Amino acid sequence: MAKQLLGKEVTAALNERIKADVAGLAEKGIQPRLGIIRVGERPDDVSYERGATKRCETLGVEYEKFLLPADVTQEELMATLEKVNNDDKIHGILIFRPLPKHLDEAAVIKALKPEKDVDGITDGSMVGVFAGTKQGFPPCTPQACMEILDHYGIDCKGKKAVVVGRSLVVGKPAAMMLLQRHATVTICHTRTVDMPSVVKEAELVIVAAGRAGVVDDRYLSPGQIVVDVGINVNEEGKLCGDVDYAKAEPVVEAITPVPGGVGSVTTSVLVGHVVEAAKRTLE
Ligand code: NAD
Repeated sequence: MAKQLLGKEVTAALNERIKADVAGLAEKGIQPRLGIIRVGERPDDVSYERGATKRCETLGVEYEKFLLPADVTQEELMATLEKVNNDDKIHGILIFRPLPKHLDEAAVIKALKPEKDVDGITDGSMVGVFAGTKQGFPPCTPQACMEILDHYGIDCKGKKAVVVGRSLVVGKPAAMMLLQRHATVTICHTRTVDMPSVVKEAELVIVAAGRAGVVDDRYLSPGQIVVDVGINVNEEGKLCGDVDYAKAEPVVEAITPVPGGVGSVTTSVLVGHVVEAAKRTLE
């Protein structure tokens, strides 16, 4: 039976580190604060926002919401962002996306200051991920994958790693972060030929394909560590990952469950980034 890599254990350890950092900042008279910009009332956004604000509250991080109507103009949105960008009391900014279609999302991302980009969406943050420098912040989801590996003492050095998925928000940054940890990385995607044999060869597999159960026992082999990023709703209305858990679990050495794996770590990573952004203002 595979070992379960549980998000809640990782989150508990991460939260302790964040609380200690918040206490350290308080001694220096700094109160970390997140600015949340939300356009409209999309249920997914509202639900993620609720999780993030609750996590802020338990960790002693303040937040301020900037709520705009779904029909907000580009000018009004840009003016709000400029205000939050220039507010020294706000260290990190979360902007919910996708924005409604009438808005120019690229212009919004371009205007966001990388040092406040705690969600890792700016080009500046991407440069940080690719160059391995402290510019901006990595996207929270691949960072959550790394937190899980680190927490469970999984050393990536020299390991053959496969990332399934090449999105800019998960697959590509995850691959770069594994490379930073000295893994030998292969990225699989929809055009990969004979994906089962490529994935089977890996010692470490991160799956972010956005398709329920796309990776099953045909892709897996004994001894593998599997991190499942996927969040899907199956035919029975239940949450499930991109890995077919029932088929994978008897084969591999360790695996993250869905729910209860990567997803449960991301909000703590986000709040941790706000605290890190506040710490960087001292440097
Ligand atoms: P995406 O759709 O932008 O990208 C999916 C990638 O997977 C693409 O590069 C595509 O080429 C590849 N792909 C799709 N089907 C494939 C297949 N059959 N074989 C090989 N490659 C395939 O998705 P995303 O934004 O990267 O998200 C991936 C998954 O992670 C989704 O299930 C999403 O819901 C989930 N997600 C979870 C969190 C979290 O906090 N856990 C956060 C963001 C996204």
